[in-house]
Amino acid sequence: MPTSRHSESAHVFAVRLMQHLVVPTFVLNAERRVIIWNKACERLTGVPAHEVIGTTNHWRAFYDEERYCLADLVVLDRTDAMSDLYVAHNEPTDSAHGLKAETWCVMPQVKKRLYLAVDAGPIYDEDGHLLAVVETLRDQTEQKLAQMALQSLAVRDGLTGLANRRSFDEKLEAEWLHNQREGTPMAVLLVDVDHFKLYNDTYGHQKGDACLKSVAAALGEQVCRPSDLAARYGGEEFAVIMPNTDLGGALHVAERIIEAVRALNVPHGASLTAETVTASIGAAAFIPTEDCSSADLVAAADAALYRAKHAGRNQVVAADRAVELEEA
Ligand code: GH3
Ligand code: MG
Ligand code: MG
Repeated sequence: MPTSRHSESAHVFAVRLMQHLVVPTFVLNAERRVIIWNKACERLTGVPAHEVIGTTNHWRAFYDEERYCLADLVVLDRTDAMSDLYVAHNEPTDSAHGLKAETWCVMPQVKKRLYLAVDAGPIYDEDGHLLAVVETLRDQTEQKLAQMALQSLAVRDGLTGLANRRSFDEKLEAEWLHNQREGTPMAVLLVDVDHFKLYNDTYGHQKGDACLKSVAAALGEQVCRPSDLAARYGGEEFAVIMPNTDLGGALHVAERIIEAVRALNVPHGASLTAETVTASIGAAAFIPTEDCSSADLVAAADAALYRAKHAGRNQVVAADRAVELEEA
């Protein structure tokens, strides 16, 4: 019949159109089986259509462990699973209007991690039954990496890669409030490289920069807990914030930092303290209360650092809260 032949050729035309669409696209039927896997999707994933058509194995093109793709969530109406499966997504009330999401994919076949932005939209028949779900993919890796680099510029120190002063200040205030609510102590270490002016004078500013990088790396390695923060406080001074940590814990980490800096064995011929680069540390730990502020905690660590310098450098001195507050 002419009409049916006409609709048949329209169907073939539609499938061919989708096959050559430049946007990577695949289509699932209502049983979550792949019915279309276009050329651009083959190029993006490295997986040929014949390997996935008719199967529910499409996840293998993106991930190395079995999980749902966005189109599966539309078929199953599982919008609740989006937060677990995607790092960013829209907030749909149901899947009938389609879903949008973004995440990192391991892409096992092409063997490179890609950040994909994904849209999945359902197609219904006249009676409202789900016929198919079309998933389109956009490779956003370059944009994502550029955005991450920008974000990192805003929070990291350019020379050492540690957190910058601004991140330190923000974290300090946030942790002060948090530990105050919890009634737990928090600690700050101020770390200052000994006789660093003499180091620059002797070896030059470039060697000085390299030395600061090494000290920062050694310090960073000793600051292990995910909630801790190691920062460049300014010049040749570094600072560490340790939430939920008492003075004993803080001194322990401080001693390890002193040792790690010594172990770098960076020659410092002009030092009046040792033959290699060393550091001094002031350590303070407070349970935050209403009668003091996070600035008092840093001032206490600074006063202790001053004592460490005067006691001969290359050592840790603990702040005495009663003394520091009286002095403040
Ligand atoms: P002390 O043992 O008492 O801490 O003596 P110091 O010489 O380390 O202290 P001082 O504050 O007198 O000098 C700090 C020096 O650190 C002076 C400054 O030129 C140097 N400095 C600060 N920031 C940088 C930097 O980014 N790169 C280099 N190369 N040097 C820096
Ligand atoms: Mg200094
Ligand atoms: Mg110094």
